[in-house]
Amino acid sequence: MLITEMVAVLFPHLARVCIDQVFRAGTTVRIRARTGTMEAACPDCGIQSRRRHSHYERRLSDTAAGGQELLIHLRVHRFFCRNTSCARATFAEQIPDL
Ligand SMILES: [Zn+2]
Repeated sequence: MLITEMVAVLFPHLARVCIDQVFRAGTTVRIRARTGTMEAACPDCGIQSRRRHSHYERRLSDTAAGGQELLIHLRVHRFFCRNTSCARATFAEQIPDL
């Protein structure tokens, strides 16, 4: 079983992201992941955008796995809102269930 398949079974809420690495740091299990999002909707106006501004890392704590703390390092994208009448210039993509 590939590690991505195992992670998808154990943590189904991560099925939409690409797992790059799973490793242990002390008593914490850490998962490095990224999204493959090419397009996202502005949360204010709802217009879809493909124009990426940047990316950054979110750190998410999750419930214990096998009695160990789980920390997810998730790389997400920030997009430009292409609606010139929208007050929001950029927005971060949202990952459902995370
Ligand atoms: Zn907008």
